[in-house]
Amino acid sequence: HPVIELNQVVKHYRIGDNQISALRGVDLQLQARDFAAIRGPSGSGKSTLLNICGLIDRIDGGSYRLAGEDISELDEAACTEIRRKRMGFIFQNYNLVPVMSVFDNVEYPLLLNNVPKAERRALVSDILDKVGLTGFAERKPDQLSGGQRQRVAIARALVKAPLLVIADEPTANLDTDTAEHIVELMKSLGHRLGTSFLIATHDDRMTRHCDTVFSMQDGVIE
Ligand code: ADP
Ligand code: ADP
Repeated sequence: HPVIELNQVVKHYRIGDNQISALRGVDLQLQARDFAAIRGPSGSGKSTLLNICGLIDRIDGGSYRLAGEDISELDEAACTEIRRKRMGFIFQNYNLVPVMSVFDNVEYPLLLNNVPKAERRALVSDILDKVGLTGFAERKPDQLSGGQRQRVAIARALVKAPLLVIADEPTANLDTDTAEHIVELMKSLGHRLGTSFLIATHDDRMTRHCDTVFSMQDGVIE
């Protein structure tokens, strides 16, 4: 099965009496282990599509299959469960919890999944090693560079070896050398862990490395 299979997905926003069609019949297949970008102009629907794929928003029409299962009609609790167990998220602004250490930020998704303490410690140490942050576990995010913060976010997204990682402009705030390293790290860890990536970006430093590039225009994928 593809990891994601969208068929004719429609999403509207209501503003007062007006309705905006942000997605107007999106067809998308994201294959297992794909490292895929979505590009397109501002307002073309990239963020809306990520929110749909990440189960943060629900579709108004069409269908969404995740790893072969039709999840179009699942309730909120079931969506939360899928997000926690099978998805990771990476953002432009890292979205780390500032009062928590690197270790605690990365451990958090495992706490939500009730992973036992000894296993949590082992998994966090292992992923911090893989992103090159051994020795940084007790730091707070404000004691790290931008590239290091994004590596913490990558570790947090991948610590449970999810089916899918959704990333929104993950290199937008990074200088070129750092961006290149971050992209290579995401891609190599994704392939190692069997995690697919779906990345909204208009950064050519990113799309160059992607296996697949989807182009959005006016609420559809071209
Ligand atoms: P915007 O406010 O539209 O995001 P930027 O200042 O970020 O504009 O755009 C910088 C350059 O990148 C411009 O040449 C613009 O055409 C191009 N660009 C902006 N957004 C995208 C996008 N989503 N996909 C492809 N190219 C883009
Ligand atoms: P992109 O990420 O490519 O810039 P978006 O998905 O943010 O595109 O937006 C697609 C369209 O939906 C735009 O016309 C935008 O104004 C509209 N839109 C996005 N989010 C909302 C919202 N929360 N409420 C109303 N309209 C929205």
